[in-house]
Amino acid sequence: MAEDRLACGECHRINGPDSQTCEQCGSSRLTTDWAGYVVITHPESSEVAAEMNVDDPGGYALKVR
Ligand SMILES: [Zn+2]
Repeated sequence: MAEDRLACGECHRINGPDSQTCEQCGSSRLTTDWAGYVVITHPESSEVAAEMNVDDPGGYALKVR
């Protein structure tokens, strides 16, 4: 299945396929070359969120190339 959503190379946030810049950090380093979609609902109590330096709930890519 093709993945056309874009992951941010800076903060790993998943953005819509037509995004030009990251909705979270404003970076233009968006790529479809990512893997491992995770939804972080409670960043303050999530080890994954701590590892990824995520402060806001939302969808993130585990790996961005
Ligand atoms: Zn970002």
